[in-house]
Amino acid sequence: MGKIQIVVVGGGAGGLELVARLGARYGRERHDIILVERNRTHIWKPLLHEVAAGSLDANLDEVGYRSHCHRWGYRFFLGSMEGLDRDAREIIVAPLVDENGRELLGRHRIRYDYLVFAVGSVTNDFGIPGVTQHCLFLDTHAQADRFRHQLLNHCLRVSRSLSQTPDAEQYVRIVIVGAGATGVELAAELYNAASALRYYGLEVFDESRLKVTIVEAGPRILPALPEKLARAAREELEALGVRVLTDVRVTGVTADAIQTRSGESLDADLIVWAAGVRGPAWLQDIGGLETTPGAQLKVRPTLQVTRDDKIFAIGDCCQCVLPGAERPVPPRAQAAHQMADTVLENLDRLITGRPLKNYEYRDYGSLVSLSRYSTVGSLMGNLVGGRMAIEGRLARFVYMSLYRMHLLAVHGRLRGAALILIGHVSRILRPRLKLH
Ligand SMILES: Cc1cc2nc3c(=O)[nH]c(=O)nc-3n(C[C@H](O)[C@H](O)[C@H](O)COP(=O)(O)OP(=O)(O)OC[C@H]3O[C@@H](n4cnc5c(N)ncnc54)[C@H](O)[C@@H]3O)c2cc1C
Repeated sequence: MGKIQIVVVGGGAGGLELVARLGARYGRERHDIILVERNRTHIWKPLLHEVAAGSLDANLDEVGYRSHCHRWGYRFFLGSMEGLDRDAREIIVAPLVDENGRELLGRHRIRYDYLVFAVGSVTNDFGIPGVTQHCLFLDTHAQADRFRHQLLNHCLRVSRSLSQTPDAEQYVRIVIVGAGATGVELAAELYNAASALRYYGLEVFDESRLKVTIVEAGPRILPALPEKLARAAREELEALGVRVLTDVRVTGVTADAIQTRSGESLDADLIVWAAGVRGPAWLQDIGGLETTPGAQLKVRPTLQVTRDDKIFAIGDCCQCVLPGAERPVPPRAQAAHQMADTVLENLDRLITGRPLKNYEYRDYGSLVSLSRYSTVGSLMGNLVGGRMAIEGRLARFVYMSLYRMHLLAVHGRLRGAALILIGHVSRILRPRLKLH
């Protein structure tokens, strides 16, 4: 009898934790655990705003899939899934090309007995004209790097011009659309980065040369947090110099401005779009599976997709409405982490013919890091027996715990703890900014 082949597509917050634990549980003797991932390395997505601002050197926090798979007993296939043949039980992977566009491997298929989608989400442009062409996004490491390069170029331009004419009215104007955690965290991180630039050769540049505007369509920032905390975060942002506009709907974007419904135009050197998520377009109706209009796979409480018992979906790419809940489980790293746990258990139950268990979402709260200036958030449920607002050092500690949990899940206890320690040391020793 052949090996049981479990294919996980996407090695992000949920998928990488899942393959590591599947590999550790089953080994290679009678199971083949395969990770299909379009990148060679993994970076935990909630760190991307720090990569974008330059305050984190992602190379130190990256995990190379090839060495990781060797250690954990799964196989890594580099490639981008583009289709699904459910009759043949095969996924279809796009041709693999090198950086010069040369084909390394043609379109190919990978067989599965059990399949798990863990392909994450993309930023939702809501079909607004100009967004895709002119905005920067923070969905991938490459996009975060692109933002950092453009940011540094603009800072350099302003710094040069101020060296020649110190009174010049020169600023780097950044508009961030969307005041959820991503937009708010990025805004604060930009001020942190700008304040450090003068130590790295841009002597006349400082944070007063940044003009950051956050534009939000809703009535307030951080809708996932209680109003009191959102107000505290807004005050902190405004104290840094961020202009916060709420109840403002963007209707169009050009190369150097956004247009709003009220007819206003806001000029910008950089426009970042961080206004909600949706599933990747290629997921829409894939293989006849049921998807939402936003291309997320609909799953049952067991995390099996609605139309196929042998296919699961976890994390941002699925829509999971649990019994008794009015809203779907939110697209968060903590949900992806917990879903990986449930699917690990449910795959075992499915293979051994036992009834599957339902996923339970444990909301430990939401935390938003305003860089080194502050952290605000609310802890919920099991952790504090209710809902508790927290700020400051405690909030920062809990915020960092989510990443530490990911490191422990991906690397194991010993190695994970060592990496956490090395991370602390490297933060002390390395430069405050990554400038290349
Ligand atoms: C800047 C930022 C800050 C955030 N902060 C927080 C936070 O503080 N707390 C929190 O809980 N959440 C936060 N989030 C949300 C969190 O990052 C996501 O909810 C989480 O990463 C979802 O995990 P996932 O495994 O579903 O997807 P991801 O972690 O996005 O992983 C998806 C993986 O699939 C791969 N992939 C995609 N398409 C294909 C394909 N066709 N073929 C092969 N591989 C593919 C991708 O390369 C990626 O590795 C933040 C997000 C951002 C962008």
